[in-house]
Amino acid sequence: MKDTALNVLKNTFGYDTFRGFQGEVIDEVCQGRDALVLMPTGGGKSLCFQVPALVMPGTAIVVSPLIALMEDQINNLQQIGIRAESLHSGVPFDEQMRIEQELFTGHIDLLYVAPERLMTEMMLHKLDQIRVSLFAIDEAHCVSQWGHDFRPEYLQLSRLTQRFPAVPRIALTATADKRTRQEIVERLGLQNARVFIDSFNRANIFYRISQKKQGKQQLLRFIEKEHSEDSGIVYCLSRKRVDDTAEWLNANGCKALPYHAGMPAEQRKHNQHRFIQEDRVIIVATLAFGMGIDKPDVRFVAHLDLPRSIEAYYQETGRAGRDGLPATAWMVYGLQDIMLLRQIRSSSNLSQELQRVEHQKLEAMLALCEVSGCRRQVLLEYFDEPLKEKCGNCDLCVEPAQTWDGTEAARKALSCVYRTGQLFGVSHLIDVLLGKQTAKVKQFHHEQLTTFGIGADYKQAEWRSVFRQLVARGYVNVDLEGHGSLKLNNRCRPLLKGEESIELRQDRYEYATVKTIKVTAASAEKGRLVVEEEDKPLWEALRVLRKELAEEQGVPAYVIFNDRTLLGMLKAKPVSHDAMSQVSGVGEFKLEQYGERFCRLISEFAEQAAE
Ligand code: ADP
Ligand code: ZN
Repeated sequence: MKDTALNVLKNTFGYDTFRGFQGEVIDEVCQGRDALVLMPTGGGKSLCFQVPALVMPGTAIVVSPLIALMEDQINNLQQIGIRAESLHSGVPFDEQMRIEQELFTGHIDLLYVAPERLMTEMMLHKLDQIRVSLFAIDEAHCVSQWGHDFRPEYLQLSRLTQRFPAVPRIALTATADKRTRQEIVERLGLQNARVFIDSFNRANIFYRISQKKQGKQQLLRFIEKEHSEDSGIVYCLSRKRVDDTAEWLNANGCKALPYHAGMPAEQRKHNQHRFIQEDRVIIVATLAFGMGIDKPDVRFVAHLDLPRSIEAYYQETGRAGRDGLPATAWMVYGLQDIMLLRQIRSSSNLSQELQRVEHQKLEAMLALCEVSGCRRQVLLEYFDEPLKEKCGNCDLCVEPAQTWDGTEAARKALSCVYRTGQLFGVSHLIDVLLGKQTAKVKQFHHEQLTTFGIGADYKQAEWRSVFRQLVARGYVNVDLEGHGSLKLNNRCRPLLKGEESIELRQDRYEYATVKTIKVTAASAEKGRLVVEEEDKPLWEALRVLRKELAEEQGVPAYVIFNDRTLLGMLKAKPVSHDAMSQVSGVGEFKLEQYGERFCRLISEFAEQAAE
């Protein structure tokens, strides 16, 4: 006799209530209908098919694109006593035989398979002979060519409808945009499926973007000051930067591991494994890293280079704080980054149309960087989910940007571009504005120009900021064939003629110098887990116990209990079986397995405190 959904949620998963529309999705699927679920990372997609899998008779088949993802979910499920298995190339042969045997005797609740294996005639034939409760298609955006995770094998999945017309299908993804969604519906034949779209607001992530000035130094200080106890991901644009940065962090006392496509597969796998298994590991990766990482307690994601679109930024930063606890998305960027990305774009052999799309995506990303208002408003607006109020949880809400009237400065900068013939890059233009007698100035007789030395009232860094903002906001173009020389365009005319004014932002260089650290103190508080001073010893002890148990079983610590559950214990300090079962995330199976040991530890601390 199978249980009701709410009982399964409470007893097996140890949670009290469904989150968002989880309950509705589960109802839909349990009644035999198809569903498409769009939820942000960490929203709780897995429960949408795991609960029905336990409620409905038969075995649920879960399609997943990556072995790492399957293993992670199976670890989690087995920990709470659920019969879940996977069939993929990494499973030893005799193990596969056992699993198939259990499949036939109805002993498996969830079976995870890769799409290419599922769609073989042999596998389908096996499924004909058992009772399939539902098909769950995880990471469903892999069916879309528009996204960057396209997997041709996913296209085959459309055949499931004809083959198993009576079995409900549920497709899930964290990719929000309309085009991808449409492709999922079309390609998986989900026209009759009810679509559930959750908010894409990741309220627990604190967004921070500032200017780059010796980025690696800034990064190191950020980690040391704010996240020295935490796991995090650092993204860089190139393999070389990844290696350099990892090495630099290691040399400065962090535990950092590189990850990029240029490394041997074995090494990469090893580093990823350590990241998931060990505490306080920082992975430094190229922008591609991340799919297949379900680690819930990543406390920060840092970008040392500018991502090329808001989608990419959202997805990468989304790997922070899947457990819903405070996390930081931190980024530094500068004029160089903008030029580099534009260069990559224009040198790629994309079609004209795709180049234009890429261009628009980059412009949107730059707008997010240069905005003076609330970052979350810009971010969610991009995903067609306007946010009425400022969020209160981004750098610009906490410390509003200072702006200044940059009209005069911009005009000087633009006329310097014009007078020098639109042939020079930013560094030389600034030399001219500052009136520096450099070799290049002499060579081109630029000391004779009317713009020579007219900018002495600003410093070099300030001029760089003016130019960066003019480039980022599209007032001037960068000619990449011409070694980064700036060119005027139509957009800047009114400004140059004095018909328009411009507000520029005061730059903020987080952690660029020791002095700026104070400025960011308010922000630093926001993206961190806060444990009261008096609770710290118990918190550490709980973590140690969790780690011991994890090592005994060879699973990541969060699989035993995640931080959220551990914080729940810290708050409630349960010393009895009953009290422990009340903590969110403690289900029957884990209570049986670990309840005793955690209770004992907590009561030891309570006794010590009483003495
Ligand atoms: P997603 O797959 O959407 O990224 P997960 O399914 O991994 O998200 O869920 C994220 C976290 O939220 C997990 O730790 C999960 O156990 C927890 N969670 C999901 N649903 C609930 C719920 N109803 N109540 C409490 N915690 C939940
Ligand atoms: Zn905000």
